[in-house]
Amino acid sequence: MNLITHFLSGAILAYFAFPKSWLTLVLVFIFSILPDMDGFWTKALYKHHRRSVFHAPLFWIFIAGIAFLINYFFNLIPNWIIYLFLSMILLHLLTDTITGRTAGVRYLYPFSKKEFTIYKRHPFEGDFKPLHPSERRLKHYLRYYMQNQVLLAFEILVTIVGIIFLIFFIRALF
Ligand SMILES: [Zn+2]
Repeated sequence: MNLITHFLSGAILAYFAFPKSWLTLVLVFIFSILPDMDGFWTKALYKHHRRSVFHAPLFWIFIAGIAFLINYFFNLIPNWIIYLFLSMILLHLLTDTITGRTAGVRYLYPFSKKEFTIYKRHPFEGDFKPLHPSERRLKHYLRYYMQNQVLLAFEILVTIVGIIFLIFFIRALF
């Protein structure tokens, strides 16, 4: 899944489950793409889930647990922000599990490095730097990615429904 569809799927969930405000929308944007920040320093797309804890749910649940604990004693932010944080991250990891074509989600990390995806992965199709791939490599990857028409249809559907709910969300702010 790409950054835009991660954000849009987050916006659909936030529409139903969280207060409608500009703050929510900004936080949805940040939290829904946060796990992919490792893409900035990874040497290859297929490695970016492996070489960092950003696609390991237990890491984020641990962080959220600490945030809840600190907030319990010091009451710094409303708790729904932490719920938003956790639900956006877990949604990101769930949709990566559905759409992962080169890298999977390490649900059991740090106890196991096994990566989970619904479809069989071909890691070396993602053997390029996500930030500046060569044109040839990128074309090759996109052709590979689009071979799975079920997933392609899923991403297009998320994009369309996401844009509709994003418009509903923004309309509710005025
Ligand atoms: Zn991701």
